[in-house]
Amino acid sequence: MSRFWSAKVHDLTPYVPGEQPQDQVYIKLNTNESPYGPSPKAISAMQAACDDRLRLYPDPQGLALKESIARLYGLSSDQVFVGNGSDEVLAFSFQGFFKQDKPLLFPDISYSFYPVYCELYDIEARTLPLDSEFAIDLDQYPQENGGIIFPNPNAPTGRALSLDAIAALLERNRDSVVVVDEAYIDFGGDSAASLIPRFDNLLVIQTLSKSRALAGIRVGFALGNRELIEGLERIKNSFNSYPLDRPALAGATAAIEDREHFESSCRKVIATREWCSTALSQMGFEVIPSKANFVFASHPRHSAAELYQQLKEGGILVRYFNKARINNHLRITIGTDSEMQQLITRLEALL
Ligand code: PMP
Repeated sequence: MSRFWSAKVHDLTPYVPGEQPQDQVYIKLNTNESPYGPSPKAISAMQAACDDRLRLYPDPQGLALKESIARLYGLSSDQVFVGNGSDEVLAFSFQGFFKQDKPLLFPDISYSFYPVYCELYDIEARTLPLDSEFAIDLDQYPQENGGIIFPNPNAPTGRALSLDAIAALLERNRDSVVVVDEAYIDFGGDSAASLIPRFDNLLVIQTLSKSRALAGIRVGFALGNRELIEGLERIKNSFNSYPLDRPALAGATAAIEDREHFESSCRKVIATREWCSTALSQMGFEVIPSKANFVFASHPRHSAAELYQQLKEGGILVRYFNKARINNHLRITIGTDSEMQQLITRLEALL
């Protein structure tokens, strides 16, 4: 207990991010980064932005980036919000849209930042169990709620929901904001962005950290109707009028514009995920069908905690989960074909 901390800080249970060793000695399959670099055009744009203009503040609106994203989704720039990683965009949504007198609904197995933001912003949380196949069952979500949030595909399971199920939820909950966290949508899911014209209660949040391989510059964005986007702008301006720096704005815009690099990286990750899921199943793992850039797997005869440790000792970093129903699961980020081949070879030796 610090004599300088407020009671609030004392009571917080902060989010613990995955291990980020900075020495590059591991095959790093633990925090769902891309194994392929960002678009070379994004790197050039960031380098070009590092000149004398760094003495000037960046565009507080980030308009060029918003316009690129809007074009990608057939929206207008005032239906786009940009922020410092999707974690920040999520935090603003928690501050702005979820009612304090009714519970926010989210899956019991889901992104572990949600309960942290609930605690930080005094929002009551109500979690709903995944079904027996580890899928989110939106039909169970009661209409009495102060908002709804879920990742699609879900993390850490990788399972995706259909747009029909999401549209039906939006229809039943017209007075609640429904946030769809699409951090992993580009690896085979269907984005709910196409539902924005039909539902003014929908906010879609995405990131450039995964499919565009830019976790190092922290850029995320939200898509939604103008009223929701204006709400986010108000919160942002009350917190920091310049969330994105000049190099990040330039790099993110170039990355969104380079669709070829983006599509080819996503295609490679998906192809690797498919053969890797089959190889893991053949080794006796139960693998949840994934639409993300990771797979979630458990072995009936082996402890995930031990496998994690043994893989780590052999230079391969994955993540294991030890909570309730997912206590014996490994979450393995999809790397390059060669990295995944090394993982499979190592697992064959361990099992
Ligand atoms: N949502 C989900 C479901 C995630 O797994 C992550 C990555 N940890 C994020 C959001 C945040 O991504 P970022 O802040 O890098 O945009």
